[in-house]
Amino acid sequence: MSEAPEVSEAELVLRSTRVVTPEGTRPAAVAVAGGTITAVLPHRAPAPEGARVEDFGDDVLLPGLVDTHVHVNDPGRTHWEGFWTATRAAAAGGVTTLVDMPLNSLPPTTTVDHLRVKRGVAADKAHVDVGFWGGALPDNVKDLRPLHDSGVFGFKAFLSPSGVDEFPHLDQDGLARSLAEIAGFDGLLIVHAEDPDHLAAAPQRNGPRYADFLAGRPRVAEDAAVARLIDQARRLNARVHVLHLSSGSALPLIAAAKADGVRITVETCPHYLTLTAEEVPDGASEFKCCPPIREAADQDLLWQALADGTIDCVVTDHSPSTADLKTADFATAWGGISGLQLSLAAVWTEARRRGHGLEDVVRWMSAGTAALAGLSRKGGIEAGRDADFAVLAPDESFTVDPAALQHRNPVTAYAGRTLCGVVKSTWLRGERILADGEFTEPKGRLLTRTP
Ligand SMILES: [Zn+2]
Repeated sequence: MSEAPEVSEAELVLRSTRVVTPEGTRPAAVAVAGGTITAVLPHRAPAPEGARVEDFGDDVLLPGLVDTHVHVNDPGRTHWEGFWTATRAAAAGGVTTLVDMPLNSLPPTTTVDHLRVKRGVAADKAHVDVGFWGGALPDNVKDLRPLHDSGVFGFKAFLSPSGVDEFPHLDQDGLARSLAEIAGFDGLLIVHAEDPDHLAAAPQRNGPRYADFLAGRPRVAEDAAVARLIDQARRLNARVHVLHLSSGSALPLIAAAKADGVRITVETCPHYLTLTAEEVPDGASEFKCCPPIREAADQDLLWQALADGTIDCVVTDHSPSTADLKTADFATAWGGISGLQLSLAAVWTEARRRGHGLEDVVRWMSAGTAALAGLSRKGGIEAGRDADFAVLAPDESFTVDPAALQHRNPVTAYAGRTLCGVVKSTWLRGERILADGEFTEPKGRLLTRTP
């Protein structure tokens, strides 16, 4: 993708002393025409006649983030989160592409008709590009190929109850059936991996104590489900992806499977990388999610696994609800963390503390996620890709005020935290969609999987 620069092919030139490219961070000028990056040139390369020039000085030019795990809930639970609010939160956080999960909207994205409904609702509200995952349920095996042909990026399944009645989980046979069907067209199954038998065997206690909640969602439930998934993927030579891994003890299984050639990828989330069980106050169910935020020792293992490639990418699992569902009882409170606008800053704050660079953050949150979904025009600053960018002041910090965030309900586990990394502007296909807190009209497109 790095052919000889054609300087004449530019309507817009973006300069920064720190452009994060696949080859590293360097001073550069990025030429853009027709919404596409046409060349990455030396920093002081002359701009062609008539081209608009934006110079960001020492602020960092990153590829827009690609967040492949977002629950928008629209239509049906739009009071939890909708396309208008979620995509504004995304843009404000430097995310230029999101892929919507097939549940907690009504309908869920489990048939072609339902996908059509979702696309219709999203079409005029998307401030960033939006794609869709389909859902694999016990009774929709016949819908999987039509959904695939309609452009979903893959299929989500639960191996334990999902939290909403309209999205039942797959048992052992159901997993085998759905995965065989999906493998038949070389699709991708993305899995919430907690084993229902291990969950049922764990002590289930009501109340505000985080330690009780954590004891009810033990590591072994994740580890057993991951092991089962690996077995099925190996047997069928199917492509699978483990969603939101929080258990450090599942990592050796995954590393061994990868070394064996099993087609498995793994994600984790900002909250597992930046928050720990030890610091969750009792009754603070804004920290509740499944699998749960675990102890600091797990967090260290997750960071090691990102560094060594066992974990491929980082996504938010942004899964909001109204504030009234976040009760002080961890057993009954809605499980889901709202972090879409904060994921870049949260991960960057901890990444730099642990000695990682912005190149690593881009690899996990843009290039890696784009690769997972097969979004070949996203995820990198190089010729031929979409001109999607975030401009970041990496050393500036801010304190999280939930009321100032763009997602619908002002609830977040990051409230009051001081984070590094301020997004100054966000660009989608060569157009600035956000600058200094001001949004343009929605310019996002609905994306379909490229065959
Ligand atoms: Zn999720």
